[in-house]
Amino acid sequence: MKIAIASGKGGTGKTTISTTLAYYFAQQFPTALLDCDVEEPDANIFLNIPVSRTFDVDVLIPQVDMDLCTGCGRCEKMCQYNAIVLIKGKPLVLPELCHSCGGCYLVCPEKAIKEVKRSVGTVEVGVNGNLHYAGGILNIGEHMAIPLIDEVKKEHYNATFRIVDAPPGSSCPVVHSMQGNDLIIIVVEPTPFGFHDAVLAYDVAKTLNIPCAVVINNLVEEYKPLFSFLEKENIPVLAVIPHDVDVARSCAQGNCIEYMLTKYQDKFEAIMRYIKEKVQ
Ligand code: SF4
Ligand code: SF4
Repeated sequence: MKIAIASGKGGTGKTTISTTLAYYFAQQFPTALLDCDVEEPDANIFLNIPVSRTFDVDVLIPQVDMDLCTGCGRCEKMCQYNAIVLIKGKPLVLPELCHSCGGCYLVCPEKAIKEVKRSVGTVEVGVNGNLHYAGGILNIGEHMAIPLIDEVKKEHYNATFRIVDAPPGSSCPVVHSMQGNDLIIIVVEPTPFGFHDAVLAYDVAKTLNIPCAVVINNLVEEYKPLFSFLEKENIPVLAVIPHDVDVARSCAQGNCIEYMLTKYQDKFEAIMRYIKEKVQ
């Protein structure tokens, strides 16, 4: 069973829920926590799994052989991302803008372009008993998150339960993290902002045709538009966790899993029950 934990808005407690759920599942089943929030990977701060392997992830970018190049400009015209510009009749490659589509190699009549590797980030992998961990770390300033997310998602060890900690928002890396899962759990903060962004995440899941459920986190008071929306869309609410400053305190101290399972074990039991029912 493959489950992505998404949120729309950042700071809703998505990683707290993902890591606690993964830890809880791993007490009974082989489980993999895949941290696809590669711009801010923090799941292993809470899981504290020793990293046993790391590897770089590269993309391919063009390199022009100026001896062969005639300055025809076809590569510049081909590139939709303005990653090749002709300056004084010679192509200049801007690596950070390249999306590795390969179009420029194909159109170069002189075969003057070859592919070279450019690192976009690193994947860390580790295991602790039943719990496998893989997480991507995107290089600072890097935008090519998707190749890194792809590599993280491959490190699932055929675990019975695979929990993807998706990035916040609803951009391409979120879509990519959600793709291929059997269930999306959206962690929603019951505020206007939290609701707005959760709807965007829900729209992504709906477009991908993946069933959705919700965990409401940080509840201070009932936010009616959210509850009306969930009812109208028939989205199950798996758990409601109240606002609790001690959650933030335990996160700051790195022991939020222990805190969540001590104080809110019944909530995680309810989530697990729902997921197990889905499997049967
Ligand atoms: S590989 Fe694609 S994106 Fe990159 S420079 Fe060539 S045409 Fe542009
Ligand atoms: S398409 Fe090839 S020959 Fe033409 S400018 Fe680009 S690299 Fe040079």
